[in-house]
Amino acid sequence: RISRAFRDNPQLSRVLIVSTISGGGLVAFSSASPFPVAHADSPAHGSPKKKVVVLGTGWAATSFLKNLKSSSYEVEVVSPRNYFAFTPLLPSVTNGTVDARSIVEPIRNIVNKRGPRCEFREAECYKIDAAKKKVYCKSTQVSNLGGKEEFSIDYDYLIIAVGARSNTFNTPGVEENCHFLKEVEDAQRIRRNVIDCFERASLPSVSDDEKRRILHFVVVGGGPTGVEFAAELHDFAIEDLAELYPSVKDLVKITLLEAGDHILNMFDKRITAFAEEKFQRDNIHVKTGSMVVKVSEKDISTKERSTGQTVSLPYGMVVWSTGIGTRPFVMEFMKQMGQTNRRVLATDEWLRVEGSDSIYAVGDCATINQRKVMEDIAVIFDKADKSKSGKLNITDAKEVVTDICERYPQVELYLKKKKMKNIVDLLKNAQGDGRKHLDIEVFKSALGEVDSQMKNLPATAQVAAQQGQYLADCFNRMEECEKNPEGPLRFRGSGRHRFHPFRYKHFGQFAPLGGEQAAAQLPGDWVSIGRSTQWLWYSVYASKQVSWRTRFLVVTDWGKRFIFGRDSSGI
Ligand code: FAD
Repeated sequence: RISRAFRDNPQLSRVLIVSTISGGGLVAFSSASPFPVAHADSPAHGSPKKKVVVLGTGWAATSFLKNLKSSSYEVEVVSPRNYFAFTPLLPSVTNGTVDARSIVEPIRNIVNKRGPRCEFREAECYKIDAAKKKVYCKSTQVSNLGGKEEFSIDYDYLIIAVGARSNTFNTPGVEENCHFLKEVEDAQRIRRNVIDCFERASLPSVSDDEKRRILHFVVVGGGPTGVEFAAELHDFAIEDLAELYPSVKDLVKITLLEAGDHILNMFDKRITAFAEEKFQRDNIHVKTGSMVVKVSEKDISTKERSTGQTVSLPYGMVVWSTGIGTRPFVMEFMKQMGQTNRRVLATDEWLRVEGSDSIYAVGDCATINQRKVMEDIAVIFDKADKSKSGKLNITDAKEVVTDICERYPQVELYLKKKKMKNIVDLLKNAQGDGRKHLDIEVFKSALGEVDSQMKNLPATAQVAAQQGQYLADCFNRMEECEKNPEGPLRFRGSGRHRFHPFRYKHFGQFAPLGGEQAAAQLPGDWVSIGRSTQWLWYSVYASKQVSWRTRFLVVTDWGKRFIFGRDSSGI
């Protein structure tokens, strides 16, 4: 209400209102700001505003919208969800530790009220026409509101931030019989289903074998989401449901299926080992080397790598969490852009879709094209190898590395972390031996590490949020850069880019393991495991909430769970 009052009454913007909870009151004083406050209706310059269309209201899109400050744009957001969902807490919604409403915030509350004028359309985009600069959308089916509306929107800039869908790898029966954990509705459905399984198993007419089947919960995928869900389900069953359903509590079984050799294989080995041991102690059955080949209504079939045999497991509920795939309309768009041989939409390091100057893609739906990065590196080599002698002067070799680091901050990061040991050692040894030249092929093969280290950024909220913020910063400065093309923001040596490339900062990753224990892999490969890490998890996730409202609700939910336990009603 306060921000609306600011918008409606420009005079108010000269007054800064500071609300202090501790003081219990509202203190107002004049800021006497010398800067005029830009209003959505009155652009700071005379030129018409550029239209920015944003597809999605997830991590990447929300971060973009929150950080977009320049009022020289008109923004239209299209998404089938009119809210932002804090996905890292979805597993906590599946067992009622946190309420679904506590992790969502309406997008209309989030958009930067002081930034550009922003319209929201609850619809899904089904086609992008890059040539006509148009997106085609249809309203999502809402039963009580009647038919579907279709419309198109023109854009000057398009930001694709539509995330990804769950990947079934075309395994038969998965779509029909498994639960996914991607959306808030999925988490609510899973919670209801878990409780339904306990209620059904408690019916007197159900045989013991059938009870065992119904209470067999299978989680497919040993990544962070699958592991966290299995741990949350175990806590729910042991801490809350066992007391309420004493007759069936001993029949509960949780199985975690993983096709690889270990669960959490993207984490440090110490974390993987700790998680596997903890799950063994908790009686969560971890089956590695087990590839799901088919899911029928009551059985899940797996092919065991060790024996080559196909095994069938009766189940009551399956949660499928094996990674992500590209949305069908993005696949269509990729064909249009000539990206037929790729699995994910490719962008350059400025997050522009390859082949377009006005379309950007951020978050899980896109990936930075590392092949292009390597092609650019090859050009730098050719320049350095002027004599074509196959030898590279040490000084030139160092310059090549510096040049690459400047163009590709990720490489710089890896070098600093000494992850690309070959290059560092090669240069150090050559210098130590008093050599003046390096064999270019040896140097190139050492640089091959760049390729392997720079594969793809992980599909995480952290990457998506940083990309959204980076893009908003670029858009905020776009006008300034266009006016001063030779300014400091211009990228060294290349006339093509006005901004520094996107630089990802990794702040670490958590793996909650249940029983008030968590593991964390922090920057610098620092590993922390145990109860104190769980408290770190609580504080990080509370601080990362998008609003004070959700922060308050989430913390209150955690408190309620400590005092009263989890709610086990089936609604
Ligand atoms: P999303 O956040 O998925 O947003 C996509 C948006 O696009 C949504 O608003 C959607 O409604 C909209 N959309 C979809 N189709 C269309 C269309 N056709 N037209 C218009 N809009 C459309 N990451 C972490 O870093 N840490 C964690 O702890 C973590 N835990 C996770 C736990 C779970 C259960 C899940 C599912 C994910 C977790 N992740 C975590 C990953 C993280 O959620 C994703 O990487 C992140 O959501 C990606 O952000 P995004 O903006 O690309 O996509």
